[in-house]
Amino acid sequence: MGGVREIDAVLRTHEIRRPALTARQAQALEVWGVRLRAVFEAPGIDERCAAINALLVEGTAGVFLTTHDGLRPHLHFTPEDDDVVGRVRAVTAGGLAIFAVEAEGRRLGTCARSTCVTVFVDTSRNGRRGYCSARCGNHDAVHRHRTQNRAGR
Ligand SMILES: [Zn+2]
Ligand SMILES: [Zn+2]
Repeated sequence: MGGVREIDAVLRTHEIRRPALTARQAQALEVWGVRLRAVFEAPGIDERCAAINALLVEGTAGVFLTTHDGLRPHLHFTPEDDDVVGRVRAVTAGGLAIFAVEAEGRRLGTCARSTCVTVFVDTSRNGRRGYCSARCGNHDAVHRHRTQNRAGR
C-alpha cells in the first residue's frame, strides 16, 4: 500500500500541480494504479490498446491544448479545475495513449524478476528490455548462475 506520503512524493517527482492529497484521494489513486498496470501487462498490442481505451473513457473529460507556465503547447485531458485524482487519471490515461501511438503499442513492460512489481517504459535502443532496472537484471543473472552451478555438480 502506498499511503498518502509516498503517493504525494511520486506526484511531486512528476510535477503534478497542486498535488496535496487526502487519504481518500490516495486510495483512489492506488485503485487507479492497478488499472494502469493492466496496460503494461497486456499480452498483445490489441489488448494494450483496449486497456488504454478503457482508461481514456474513465479517466479523461475533454482534450485541449495548453501552454500553461510557459511550457510549449501540450495536451491536457481534463479541465484545469479538476481535483488531483482527476488530473492524475487524465495525464496517465492520455500520456499512455500518446506513448502507444509513438511506440506503436510496444515498449511497455513488467519487470521479469519474480519478486519485483515495477512496470517500465522501455527506452532501450532495441526495445527488448526485460527488467525495470539493472539491479533486478543483475539479481536474476546471479541467481541463474548459482542455479546452473548447482545443477552442474
Ligand atoms: Zn500541463
Ligand atoms: Zn524490477
